[in-house]
Amino acid sequence: MTQVYNFGAGPAMLPAEVMKKAQAEFLDYQGMGAGVIEISHRSKEFDAILNRCDELLIELANIPSNYKILYVHGGAQMQFSAVPLNLLGRSASKSASYIETGTWGVKARKEAARFGNATTAASSADTGFDRIPEFDPSALPADTAYVHITSNNTLYGTRWHDFPQTGDIPLVADMTSEFLSREIDISQFGIIFAGLQKNLGPAGLAVVIIREDLLGNALEITPALLDYSVYAGSHSLSNTNNTFAIYMMGLVLEWVKEQGGVAKLEAQNERKAKLLYDVIDESDFYLGVADPAHRSIMNVTFNLAKPELLDTFVDEALENGLYALKGHRDVGGARASIYNAMPVAGCEALATFMREFERKYA
Ligand code: PMP
Repeated sequence: MTQVYNFGAGPAMLPAEVMKKAQAEFLDYQGMGAGVIEISHRSKEFDAILNRCDELLIELANIPSNYKILYVHGGAQMQFSAVPLNLLGRSASKSASYIETGTWGVKARKEAARFGNATTAASSADTGFDRIPEFDPSALPADTAYVHITSNNTLYGTRWHDFPQTGDIPLVADMTSEFLSREIDISQFGIIFAGLQKNLGPAGLAVVIIREDLLGNALEITPALLDYSVYAGSHSLSNTNNTFAIYMMGLVLEWVKEQGGVAKLEAQNERKAKLLYDVIDESDFYLGVADPAHRSIMNVTFNLAKPELLDTFVDEALENGLYALKGHRDVGGARASIYNAMPVAGCEALATFMREFERKYA
């Protein structure tokens, strides 16, 4: 197989070691003569996988003991429904505030508006979501059930460096595109959720980390499989969960531990992102999308000063083994998603290609 570096935003590349381990165990998991995909979600073997996922998440993300870890169906967007269904009941007026830093925050707010009063507390829409907007938490009405942010904005390449201090109002963060890529103080949040398909495993499932006291407020209309208490009370097994995705996540978490944990990966992610931002900053040929003060280390977004060269850029990159560099259709330009599994060598190869492309076409 030729070496290809996959810069796709998600489902994204997984560590090669994880893919090989899954392949080796696919037909025969631990001598059972059957694969994980074929065994009961209530078997002792799967129970061990699930417990190990909990254990590794607690260790790697440093999750305090007053939080529950849930494995919830439907990926990240399903949590856009589950969060209001589970938390709006905390507010007499069923109100929640959303900070809109991109398409995902807007979608989350619109979903919450089906069930209550979801308002926009701050937005960077007027500057094309190129930054994190100013936000004053002290202006929030006291009867606010929660504040929702998107911690890393996959499409635009921005992130919150420091999180807003919302006091007694729980802060909810969609960390889909950066969970486990940087050290986070979990105790700042009421709920953190992340779809698996960037840093954790296959698409279709989300990890939800919820402070225990927030459980038990679900609106009456909440479907059982969106009620976080149902997941918390059944170890996420009230129905047949996505056992294979959980198994794959377990392999990824073991890999994160082998790499030295989140702090090590964070330092490496900073290095990887710098390789690309240096190329952008040193040239007039590439124009960064995100305000430098709010740049993501997971999604690096840029335009070409000659936009007519974009297709040539993407095609020639592909010929050089650099896959999926086209930006999101809402943003245009180019985007390199460089999640935990992207090796430093991948970013070095892209930086070299970008410099050569500039030399050829500037
Ligand atoms: N939130 C963020 C920050 C995302 O990047 C994505 C997917 N790119 C989503 C939500 C939606 O995820 P899903 O497709 O799992 O619903």
